[in-house]
Amino acid sequence: MNALVTGGAGFIGSHLVEALLARDDKVWMIDDLSTGRFENIAHLEEHPGFQYVIDTILDERVVSELTAKVDVVFHLAAAVGVQYIIDNPLKALETNIRGTEIVLQQANEYKKKVMIFSTSEIYGKANHQPCAEDDDRVLGSTTISRWGYSSSKAIDEFLALAYHREKQLPVVIVRLFNTCGPRQTGQYGMVIPRFVKQALLDHPLTVYGDGQQTRCFCDVSDVVSGVLALIEEPAANGEVLNLGSDEETTIEELARRVLELTGSDSEIEFIPYEKAYEEGFEDMRRRIPDLSKIRSLVGYEPRISLAELLERVVADFKR
Ligand code: UDP
Repeated sequence: MNALVTGGAGFIGSHLVEALLARDDKVWMIDDLSTGRFENIAHLEEHPGFQYVIDTILDERVVSELTAKVDVVFHLAAAVGVQYIIDNPLKALETNIRGTEIVLQQANEYKKKVMIFSTSEIYGKANHQPCAEDDDRVLGSTTISRWGYSSSKAIDEFLALAYHREKQLPVVIVRLFNTCGPRQTGQYGMVIPRFVKQALLDHPLTVYGDGQQTRCFCDVSDVVSGVLALIEEPAANGEVLNLGSDEETTIEELARRVLELTGSDSEIEFIPYEKAYEEGFEDMRRRIPDLSKIRSLVGYEPRISLAELLERVVADFKR
């Protein structure tokens, strides 16, 4: 197929571009390099099936031209990372809301299938775990930037579902849980690349809060497999699906595993949330995906354990 990947120079986008090219698909990608990096796709520059545009999805004309060329749009271009969202709240809202509106409008114009990449942030600070797709969302005050990000992605989902219901546009919405792997940068807040870099430099590992909050980290290759299975599945049309791993770890345990794996002499430093992020910052205590829907729909199963994922990330950082 011919595919457009928005945000294709980002961490997840670049892995998806590679996987599509490996299947002999033709790939166009657009990225404004705001959080993506050219080096993520530089090795694909000469690939005969690959074309790229360095530009913003906020330019309707560019999105229109690209959408016209393809069969399917994977919409990953977005502001991501808890730290990035807190530092750039306005840009985050504009890219996530206006950008997605443009992508969906253009997809509808040409009646092209779209996959919208959403996030587990949608669930907010819900105590009920694991999170199933139709669970309630529990968000805090609008004065906390993190909930603005969560809300912007919820608007994206509402828009996509409205296009599906009213205009019969084929859309699939995937809610990605914590995704990690080679090429991810810690610059925007993501914990695994931050810990690995800190450990390799013998700097203290910055555990926020009491470190007893939990997450489930999924290797990007498993996420890409899930995405490719879903895009081929007609029954995924108009559906929202969780995608990730359900292997849970506390953040303190994660830090200890990174220390062990790297043989680092670093200490663990516990930092209060308000010092790490901002006054009033709220974190979710646990976040586990309910994967029953995607399991039953496409037989999805995450294959890479946290141990293996950490090994892959450490090897990547050493390189
Ligand atoms: N975290 C941490 N130290 C860091 C960065 C993050 O302890 O240097 C924590 C963060 O507070 C959260 C977890 O690790 O509880 C996962 O953070 P990340 O930003 O990777 O993802 P998200 O918060 O979106 O799950």
